[in-house]
Amino acid sequence: MTTTSKIEWTERTWNPTVGCSKMSPGCKHCYAEGMALRLQAMKTSGYENGFKLTVLPKRLEDPLKRRSHTTYFVNSMSDLFHEEVPTDYIEQVFDVIARANQHTFQILTKRADRMSAFFMGKKVPPNAWLGVSVEDRQYGVPRIDALRKVNAAIRFLSVEPLLENVGTLNLDCIHWVIVGGESGPKARPMKEEWVDSIRAQCEAAQVAFFFKQWGGWGADGIKRAKRYNGRKLNGQTWDQMPVAARSAW
Ligand code: SF4
Repeated sequence: MTTTSKIEWTERTWNPTVGCSKMSPGCKHCYAEGMALRLQAMKTSGYENGFKLTVLPKRLEDPLKRRSHTTYFVNSMSDLFHEEVPTDYIEQVFDVIARANQHTFQILTKRADRMSAFFMGKKVPPNAWLGVSVEDRQYGVPRIDALRKVNAAIRFLSVEPLLENVGTLNLDCIHWVIVGGESGPKARPMKEEWVDSIRAQCEAAQVAFFFKQWGGWGADGIKRAKRYNGRKLNGQTWDQMPVAARSAW
């Protein structure tokens, strides 16, 4: 089973594992946790264990059944490089990705060290984009160096939820940066100058920049009662995609 996604930078989600555990400040209000618990209460197949890490081999072949080019976000409800996912299962996931070469797969992790160790001596399928979450300086920024070690066609950063000014980033060998604020009733604020600093660094380094959303706080620094989905920065939308993607979309 794969699902159409509302996430602005992808088309569908494919979750060959579900569930996770928190490891850094970006996880504090994890969307996947709340959703997994709701799906468990609704007795939805795959969520019998709630948010506990669960591998779902029955879903492995799902992308192979779809012929037309589709961009999949892999594991919107989990982290493929979670320590409880067996290495041979990750290998099976990438085997499917390599065989489903009519598609593009976006894999995002907070377990950047495990990802770079996994790919030591292995080739990354050319249709796999690999990314890391960069929510702050202490936990997020060091993941970028681990990502750089992996020889992926597209390396990307998901700077969401952006929790502080992350300073000067080393964008060498990075192809795409997505920035977004936190959503939900307990959303933490994001300042415009933090986002604009990243945008300017991307422009200088010729890295594609995608501004996903403001989240729970507006550009004016005022918290909204409901989810605020404004997407403009400096009066415009920023929907840049990495170069290899443009011909595919
Ligand atoms: S790594 Fe992602 S899925 Fe896992 S707890 Fe953190 S935010 Fe949630």
